[in-house]
Amino acid sequence: MDAARLQFMTEGECVMSFFSTRGGSCVTASQAILRGLAPDGGLYVPAMFPQVSPEKIVSLSQLPYARRASEILRLFLEDFSPAEIEAAVTAAYGGDRFDDPAVAPLKPLDENTWILELFHGPTLAFKDMALQLLPHLTTLSARKNGENREVSILVATSGDTGKAALEGFRDVPGTSCTVFYPLDGVSDVQRLQMVTTGGNNTHVIAVKGNFDDAQTGVKELFSSPDFAAEMNARGKVLSSANSINFGRLVPQVVYYFSAYADLVARRAIVCGDPVNFCVPTGNFGNILAAYYAHQMGLPIGRLICASNRNKVLTDFFASGTYSTHRIFFKTMSPSMDILVSSNLERLLFEAADRDGELVKTWMRTLKECGSYSVGDQRREWLESLFWGGCADDIATLDEIGRRFRENRYLMDTHTAVASSVLREYRQTKQDGTPTVLVSTASPYKFARDVLTGIAGAGVSEGLDPFACSAELEKRSGVPMPDQVRRLKDLPIRHKAECEIEGMGEAVLREFDR
Ligand SMILES: *Cc1c(COP(=O)(O)O)cnc(C)c1O
Repeated sequence: MDAARLQFMTEGECVMSFFSTRGGSCVTASQAILRGLAPDGGLYVPAMFPQVSPEKIVSLSQLPYARRASEILRLFLEDFSPAEIEAAVTAAYGGDRFDDPAVAPLKPLDENTWILELFHGPTLAFKDMALQLLPHLTTLSARKNGENREVSILVATSGDTGKAALEGFRDVPGTSCTVFYPLDGVSDVQRLQMVTTGGNNTHVIAVKGNFDDAQTGVKELFSSPDFAAEMNARGKVLSSANSINFGRLVPQVVYYFSAYADLVARRAIVCGDPVNFCVPTGNFGNILAAYYAHQMGLPIGRLICASNRNKVLTDFFASGTYSTHRIFFKTMSPSMDILVSSNLERLLFEAADRDGELVKTWMRTLKECGSYSVGDQRREWLESLFWGGCADDIATLDEIGRRFRENRYLMDTHTAVASSVLREYRQTKQDGTPTVLVSTASPYKFARDVLTGIAGAGVSEGLDPFACSAELEKRSGVPMPDQVRRLKDLPIRHKAECEIEGMGEAVLREFDR
């Protein structure tokens, strides 16, 4: 046991340790954050879910976002002092890095629906909510564990995580950040945002494959002793900023409490009333944070899991079988183009009554046979809280147009997938529970498709990404964010590409350059 942990125990602090979903290890919060993935290949989960009382939830509504964050974070980060947490959340959320003072504003959409806007950070997607904070948690964790090597963050991105991680870690002393993105799998704006990143510790590499290839490649590097040795020889140690890292997950729990507290403050609900959340889902990180909030006592009626045409999760919730035997589609919601949703493993761990051996068996079957089944009883248990639905590109465009016409709200393609699924859910289930639609990106990140959604396909034809954004601004009246406007003038700084098999060498090449 390390000194920091011992000190907290002798001070009588509650020690909340973390286990692997596959049964192994017991580590502190800072160790879980530093390591990212457990040595047995599992994901770190908290030993228990701390409870938040209704009174506490009401009291949150009086606080600014940064304070809400520190109240929730301290429940999980057992070996961080309150002062450390306070400083970290103030640096992440307290300044002007978010362009809305509420950080995660909740806006009315129609009479029974609110929209939680999570895209007001520097890279215009919800990943900023966690990745503006994670570098602070990472450097604190390194210090607590006597880690003197450079913490080298390795990220696989389906588009938005990459830029958010690069912005979070850019020029943070003692760290570097290397991002792999699928060569033809991200939007124009997403790619430009990444390859124009400044900073002396940032690397961006295009992989000739899809997101699952990139994610699998990164996971393999994490579990390769040879690669660890190569890194160690260079004075570096690997860490992860993907949503498998608990440090990514815990900041996301905050905004579910925050949204609920805002509804209470507006008297839209009374504390204790159930609220549904509808979440556009890819790697299952965002909606898993909602599940964690539910486990901590947040009154959630149902969690609606929205997928695009890659509807592996929709089928899983309907059948209890997770199967990757299917075609991978490239859609206009690329951040959800995923067949292996890593964070589902954390939900499976709960569905398995925290039986790590069972999770291990499912994960092995998935790797060897491409599918596993959880059985009827566990499927029914999942069904009591979750509902899965999907929307293809045509439904997505329809929804963008309809919300713009009917509600004067301009939504991005990912949010539109969720909005369309919510419509279907309400029709199917006749459920009138107030619902929060989680909005994950600025419409300007996907300007071409959003423009098509409100004005038809002909309008964007022949326009470059910048002209699309300008046209979208003209037609919608929603101001273009500065980050998009500035992109045009930034030089391309990252041009590396690699094969799926060559990811490790590509990283070392970047470091040795
Ligand atoms: C990452 C992302 C998602 C999917 O979130 P998960 O946590 O991976 O389920 C949805 N929309 C946008 C815009 C994203 O960037």
